[in-house]
Amino acid sequence: MDRIRILLVGNGGREHALAWKLSQSPLVESIIAVPGNGGTSTCPKVTNNNSVKADDYPGLVALAQKHNVNLVVPGPEAPLVDGIEGYFKAVGIRCFGPSKLAARMEGSKTFSKDFMKKYNIPTAAYENFSDYEKAKKYLDSVDHNVVLKASGLAAGKGVIIPATKEEAHAALKEIMVDKEFGSAGDEVVIEEFLEGDELSILTFSDGYTIRSLPPAQDHKRIFDGDQGPNTGGMGCYAPTNIATKELIEEIERTVLQPTIDGMRKERFPFVGTLFTGLMITKNGPKCLEYNVRFGDPETQTLLPLISKDTDLAEIMIACTEGWLDSVSVKIDAKSSATVVVAAGGYPGSYAKGTPMKVDSPPADTNIFHAGTVIKDGQLQTSGGRVIAAQATAENLEEAVKKAYAGVEFIKFDKMFYRKDIAHRAFKPKASTKEALTYA
Ligand code: AMP
Repeated sequence: MDRIRILLVGNGGREHALAWKLSQSPLVESIIAVPGNGGTSTCPKVTNNNSVKADDYPGLVALAQKHNVNLVVPGPEAPLVDGIEGYFKAVGIRCFGPSKLAARMEGSKTFSKDFMKKYNIPTAAYENFSDYEKAKKYLDSVDHNVVLKASGLAAGKGVIIPATKEEAHAALKEIMVDKEFGSAGDEVVIEEFLEGDELSILTFSDGYTIRSLPPAQDHKRIFDGDQGPNTGGMGCYAPTNIATKELIEEIERTVLQPTIDGMRKERFPFVGTLFTGLMITKNGPKCLEYNVRFGDPETQTLLPLISKDTDLAEIMIACTEGWLDSVSVKIDAKSSATVVVAAGGYPGSYAKGTPMKVDSPPADTNIFHAGTVIKDGQLQTSGGRVIAAQATAENLEEAVKKAYAGVEFIKFDKMFYRKDIAHRAFKPKASTKEALTYA
């Protein structure tokens, strides 16, 4: 195989982890990260480039052509939903990511729920609405707990779980009338509330074959004990202890393979990483949602579990060329944990430009940057979720301990992080008393 030159789009912790893993591949000659962050630029073979905006797709194509790029890896959902794959397909450059049509599985929750129904993929009972009055009447008519979802992209914030019917009505008005999430709330899904344990699975696919990574569990809330508002994700661990081999096989048989087969039948085959959110209920696994790209912080947690002799660049090429069936994805029998360090105030307002000091962690521990930049030679914060410490170990207890030891290598004013990552794996109910932790 010719050596490959990659264009990596994005600037989060996920993209730093991708740059870290891809730069280890002997197949990879160079990586241009647009715009990248303070971490991507420290990876071998990687150059940050901010001469083009990450959503200027014709500009990205011109940049890729200038540098003879032969693989594009979009990190976040927005470029995929905008159709970045098509811009590169038109000029014959491979893109590890789904087409605009396939990306609707994340871009529209009403669309993905209808897809699940059509292909008998187990999911919560639901109704879609674009008319506020009809949605209101429906809410009055149901006697089970509901979940309200703005259909479009809402930066992970468009899902509301009301505690009472009054709260449900207030949330519906916020989404559909007050347009809290803009046009993402033109349509809503109202679905049955499901009880159970949640897990996420990242699955590589070439449109036919699936190769899944171990199931992971994210921590969405800002405070310990899963309290406070939702965030982009404050930590993650894998594999989850609820995920037995039998359960994974059931998920592959009832959810993942039917999804990939259904998408192909609908003529929008899925190429890339499908990130499936599931609730494991007493009636079996149910699909909560699809994302059409790597998760953040799941990627930082999972890529270090891929064996050294499995090449991520080869997997990506195999997906874009349709030969994933001949690639084996080997996973180390270890555990991994990630602790995200945020800027004080996040997910509300927070300072940017705070100077940082990050020392090199020991082996088996990685520091993945997200909201960081290097300005005039000084590393500074530039976002809310700033940086994360990840560690791999023989068991989860050790991995978590090492990840927290990794946090000690990170210093900046008003940094904070959750102290209870992986608590669900260790005890059924975590303390809700611990709150904001300032280091
Ligand atoms: P989603 O973006 O659809 O995955 O929803 C975000 C979060 O809301 C999920 O990770 C779950 O914690 C929760 N959630 C979504 N749908 C349901 C449901 N039907 N029942 C219970 N919780 C849900």
